[in-house]
Amino acid sequence: IRRQSQMCIRDRGYDVHRLVPGRELILCGVHIPHPTGLLGHSDADVACHALMDAIAGALALGDIGQFFPDSDPAYRNADSLKLLARVMELPELGNWQLVNCDLTIVAQKPKLMPHRLEMRRNLAAVLDLPLDRISVKATTTEGLGFEGREEGISAACVVLLESR
Ligand code: MG
Repeated sequence: IRRQSQMCIRDRGYDVHRLVPGRELILCGVHIPHPTGLLGHSDADVACHALMDAIAGALALGDIGQFFPDSDPAYRNADSLKLLARVMELPELGNWQLVNCDLTIVAQKPKLMPHRLEMRRNLAAVLDLPLDRISVKATTTEGLGFEGREEGISAACVVLLESR
């Protein structure tokens, strides 16, 4: 039964990181074998970052850079799934239930399809949601733009929150 006072907020998040040699490629906590990886202060998990930004945006809490500043050595090479877990524990989220999330990862290479289920499982565990509420999609840009030139990977996320 839907209470009359129940409210929903939908918001989106977006992030980009540069691909460089000598870094591990980590997306939704999955370590993916690839000659290049994403550069960043944390593990540069661009998918987790877009998701955190979507949640923070829905609650008008600003961007994740404010929570986990890249000037803070504590977040050097930080596991972004753990940062996501901390976002989920924010008191501001207490009156809200995450209903679903839909992530799109834009990468020319590597093929992400073989890792999709593991990515969704990782997010399901942290978000405490059933697998069918967590969508992870991947697309190329058919060689166009920075993703197409394999200079970087971008991620966009949409989340829906419902008042408890
Ligand atoms: Mg980022």
